[in-house]
Amino acid sequence: MLPDPSLARPRIPSIAVLGGGPGGLFTAWSLQRALDRPVHLELYEASARLGGKVRTARLGPRGVPYEAGAAELYDYSALGEDPLRELVAELGLATRPMEGHAVVVGGRFLANLDDLESALGAEAASALRRFDACAQDRLSPAEFFAADLEGGSASEAPGHRFSAFLDRVPSRGARRFVETLIHSDLATEPERTSVGYGLQNYLMNDPRYLKLYSIEGGNERLIEALAQRVRAELRLEHEVLRVSRAPSGRLRIAWRSPRSSGEREHDLVVLALPLEALRRVAFEGELLRAALARHIADYDHPAHYLRLTLLFERPFWRARLQDSYAMLEAFGGACLYDESSRTPGAGYGLLGWLLGGEAARAHAKLDDATLLSRALEELPFEGALARELFVAGAVHRWSDAVNAIPGGEVPRSHARRHQPEPHAHPELFVVGDYLFDSTLNGVLDSADHVAHAIAARLAESSEEAA
Ligand SMILES: Cc1cc2nc3c(=O)[nH]c(=O)nc-3n(C[C@H](O)[C@H](O)[C@H](O)COP(=O)(O)OP(=O)(O)OC[C@H]3O[C@@H](n4cnc5c(N)ncnc54)[C@H](O)[C@@H]3O)c2cc1C
Repeated sequence: MLPDPSLARPRIPSIAVLGGGPGGLFTAWSLQRALDRPVHLELYEASARLGGKVRTARLGPRGVPYEAGAAELYDYSALGEDPLRELVAELGLATRPMEGHAVVVGGRFLANLDDLESALGAEAASALRRFDACAQDRLSPAEFFAADLEGGSASEAPGHRFSAFLDRVPSRGARRFVETLIHSDLATEPERTSVGYGLQNYLMNDPRYLKLYSIEGGNERLIEALAQRVRAELRLEHEVLRVSRAPSGRLRIAWRSPRSSGEREHDLVVLALPLEALRRVAFEGELLRAALARHIADYDHPAHYLRLTLLFERPFWRARLQDSYAMLEAFGGACLYDESSRTPGAGYGLLGWLLGGEAARAHAKLDDATLLSRALEELPFEGALARELFVAGAVHRWSDAVNAIPGGEVPRSHARRHQPEPHAHPELFVVGDYLFDSTLNGVLDSADHVAHAIAARLAESSEEAA
C-alpha cells in the first residue's frame, strides 16, 4: 500500500555550521534562540578543539594560564545594547575589568598630557590635544557605537587612508605617540587602513567610548560554556574542503578527517570561517565560485599578530606597571600585557607582548628563542633582572588572522554582507568578524544577523508549504 501523503511529516531542516571558533559557536547559540522549530544542526571544526583564536593556553612547570589569542572583550554597555556583555552574564561567567593608561616612549611611562608635555614638549602636547578634539568631533561616542549598526558607518572615499589623516598632525612626537598607541590594536600600518577604522582604534582608548574586560579563569571559559549549552552534532577534526549544489537541490559539504572523508547534504549552510580559511574552501558552480571570489576580494585586507609570552618567577615590574597593559614603542608599537594581573595574588609574573602589523609578520619568520630574547631586550624596565627571573616562554604566530579594513572599503547592507550569492544560493550564509570590526563583539553581531535571517527564511518556507 502506498503511504498517504497527508500523513508524511515535514523533514526537520538540516543546518551545517562550518567552523568551531567563536563565530560558529555564536551562530549555533543564536540559532537555538532565534528558531521556533526543531532543526538538525551540525558543527564542523577542522581542528581537534573548539574556540579558534580564543585560546587560554598554559605555560611553565606549573601550567599557568595565559591568553594566546584574543586578550580582551569590549564593553559597550554604557552606550547601548551589548549582546556580548549580555551573553557573558547569561552564561554566568565572572569578569574582570582591564585598564591601561600608559604609552612608554623613550623608557618613560606617559599616562596623561602632562607626562607627554614633559617628555615630548609643549608643541607635541598641544598637537595631541587638537588631534584628540578632532577625532572626537569626527566620531562621538554615540556614532562610535552605531558604526556597526545597519547604515551606521559613514561612507568614506575608497582608498582614503588613516596615514593621510595622521600626516595632518603637525608634531612628529604627537604622531608617533598616536601610532604607538593604536598599532597593536590595528594590527596593520596607518597606510593600510581606513580613516574610520584608525579613528575607532584611537578612540577606544577613551573610557567614554569603550571599556575592556576579560573572563575570570581565562577567555576560553566563554567557549567552554557555549560548548556545554549548544545542541549540535559536533564534528571535530572535520575540515570542510568543498561546497556544491547536489542533484537533490540541497547544498553538499565535502569534508575530510584524519581517518576518513565524506559528503553530506544540508538545507542551509553557514560558513563561520575567517577569510584565510574561506580561501581554502572550493566552491563548485560558476555562480557560487565567482560570488565567493568577489566576497573574499571585498574584505581582502590581511592584518597580522604575533604574541610572545614570558613567565618569570615573580612580577618584578609592579613598581613601574600596575595596569593590565601598557603600549610600547618597541616593534613599531606593541601592547605589553601583565598577564599575571588576571590572577590576583598569583606568585608568578607573566608578561605578554602583542606585536601587530608588519612587525608581527616579519618577526614571525624568526625562531622562538630569538623572539623571546628580543622581547626581553625591548622590556622598558629591569632587563637584567628579567633575564635572571625568566622561567619559560611561548610564541603564537597569527599572520593573516585579522583584518586591516574590517567591514570593507565600501560598507554594504548587513543582508548583502552575509549572503555572497543571494539569488541562486539564498541558503548559503557567511559569518565573520571581518564583516564588522575584527572582534568577538563583531562576530557575535554577525552570528545574530544570520540566525535571524535563517529563522525568517524557515518561517517563510513553512508558510509557503502550509
Ligand atoms: C592574536 C589575536 C588577538 C586578538 N585579540 C582580540 C581581542 O582582544 N578582542 C577581540 O574581541 N578579538 C580579538 N581578536 C579577534 C578574535 O579572536 C576573532 O574576532 C574571533 O576569533 C573570530 O572568530 P571566528 O570564529 O570568526 O574565527 P576563528 O576564531 O579563527 O575560528 C575559526 C574556526 O574555524 C576552523 N576552520 C578553519 N577552516 C576550516 C574548515 N575548512 N573546515 C572546518 N573548520 C575550519 C578553525 O580551526 C577555527 O576553529 C584577536 C585575534 C588574534 C589573532
